[in-house]
Amino acid sequence: MQSSLATKAGKLARRFTSLSASLAAPSPRRRVPTIDGGGGCGGGGCGGGTPVANKRAAEQSCLASLRLCDAVPKLAQAHTHIIKSGLGNNPLVLAKFASASAELGAVDFACSFVFAPDADARLYDTFLYNTVIRACAQSQRRKALAFYDLMLRSGISPNKFTYPFVLKACAGIGDLSLGRSVHGSVVKFGFDEDVHVQNTMVHMYSCCGRGIEFARKVFDGMTKLDSVSWSAMIGGYVRLGESGDAVALFRKMQIAGVKPDEITMLLVLSACADLGALELGRWVESYVARENVQKTVELCNALIDMFAKCGDVDSALRLFQSMSNKTIVSWTSVIGGLAVHGGGVEAVSLFDEMIAAGVVPDDVAFIGLLSACSHSGLVEKGRDYFNLMTKRFGIEPKIEHYGCLVDLLCRAGLIRKAIEFVEEMPLEPNPVIWRTLINACRAHGELKLGEDITKRLIGKEPMHESNYVLLSNIYAKMSHWEKKTKIREVMDTKGMRKIPGSTLIELENEIYEFVAGDKSHDQYKEIYEMLDEMGREIKKAGYLPSTSEVLLDINEEDKEDAVNRHSEKLAIAFALLRTPPGTSIRIVKNLRVCEDCHSATKFISKIYDREIVVRDRNRFHHFKDGLCSCGDFW
Ligand code: ZN
Ligand code: ZN
Repeated sequence: MQSSLATKAGKLARRFTSLSASLAAPSPRRRVPTIDGGGGCGGGGCGGGTPVANKRAAEQSCLASLRLCDAVPKLAQAHTHIIKSGLGNNPLVLAKFASASAELGAVDFACSFVFAPDADARLYDTFLYNTVIRACAQSQRRKALAFYDLMLRSGISPNKFTYPFVLKACAGIGDLSLGRSVHGSVVKFGFDEDVHVQNTMVHMYSCCGRGIEFARKVFDGMTKLDSVSWSAMIGGYVRLGESGDAVALFRKMQIAGVKPDEITMLLVLSACADLGALELGRWVESYVARENVQKTVELCNALIDMFAKCGDVDSALRLFQSMSNKTIVSWTSVIGGLAVHGGGVEAVSLFDEMIAAGVVPDDVAFIGLLSACSHSGLVEKGRDYFNLMTKRFGIEPKIEHYGCLVDLLCRAGLIRKAIEFVEEMPLEPNPVIWRTLINACRAHGELKLGEDITKRLIGKEPMHESNYVLLSNIYAKMSHWEKKTKIREVMDTKGMRKIPGSTLIELENEIYEFVAGDKSHDQYKEIYEMLDEMGREIKKAGYLPSTSEVLLDINEEDKEDAVNRHSEKLAIAFALLRTPPGTSIRIVKNLRVCEDCHSATKFISKIYDREIVVRDRNRFHHFKDGLCSCGDFW
């Protein structure tokens, strides 16, 4: 068995030769004199007792000194001790040295000693290689794979403990073909039935681009699924942004009766945050309390992030206040949450509280703070903090910070000031900044200026469809219908299509998705009847349809019909049908909410006496009593 594994190891080694080219390693079969190899006792390790007893004692002494290593200088002392004891070629001591070094973040030091050019490669065994591969798998992934390669080339057989770390390294690199090659060797060495190897394989595939397919194949083929297996697959969906599939798989996990662990919880919360699935997110919080799952800082931070992104900023704040150990992530999550909810003043005071508590803000905290100022029109405060960032905290503004400041000026209608700021900024403005300027020009009636900037942007990014949509919207506002039609023709010629709008809503633990003009729902007839009723009621209350954002050059009545069937209106109609009077309605739109839907939703909130929370691509809108928290600027 061993020899056939060794032959396989030799064959597989060829696949990895390129990886190890950079590794300064000894020739695998090189032999050098050892203390007790070949020539018997060579001197250094021999004392007064029998050679074997002396060696044991020296070995125990070295292992004991390695166990006490809690800092790199102690490691260096232990190293000297090992050399003096003549145990530089003792596999057990080398393995312990490698793991102690890895724990202290000194992997390179360990490798240079363990795999020194004069070391005896004959003494390297599977355990030693596993130790070194494990030490490198987290932060020096290519090195981990290079050692794996060296292991195979040296004819040392991997075992079931080798692969979880090799696969982890592949996952970190995200190289699918490399991962598939390792998968091949897992099968050839016969470890494909091992549940830990299978779990890391699912994780590896889910980290590698197109891995959705391969990971699921491995997962579906597994006979024993534990919480790690489920988490690995759920994590795969979360990483690919396929949160709906992640939640669906989580439901299957519950049906299968597997108890979720903390990792599963973190993943599900991330999916909930993405989908706006507040009910499921709340369930996670109650599950944690019910099952006495330890409320780690990570779990609390994930809950805060979920609540903030699902529009329940009060719960985010409640949880934040209850935390005894707040990290910078806790502060930035809650500040960022307040920012998108228009709670600028609270966000600013929380930021000051954070500084007073001695927490040093990082660049992410400033993004949250500046966007809070921006969403709440706090122009002067925003400018002050922007300057404070460098002066007091020594943080160089990144393009995102400049973007926040441009947004701040634009939202306040200071478009000329924003343009001056962009012209003077030391970094090249990115398309996001240009698009912020364009949207502001459109909103504040600077249409000619908006047209000019958009044309320049199209020159830079000729294949970016949203630039054409912006120009088309500007022409709509100018009532230049011919030009607008022309834009559509250009988009058709280039094979571009407007991203279809869609809205998600979570009701009774189900997530429903609507697209414009959707008739796929079982209840679609009732939904359209409700839509008509809504239309009649809000018109009576003074609502006037705003049709300028409709892309097609069609007559007014059809345009009205087109905006009336926007996905958010369908979702709201559905929610009005399915939920008791007075219940809040929460929806998630994939694009920026259009002017007409915004205006209609204000009327709906008043007439039907509902709080409606809409998360669009840019921010949250809390509609209540005919008003929106964004103050009509978004
Ligand atoms: Zn709309
Ligand atoms: Zn709004």
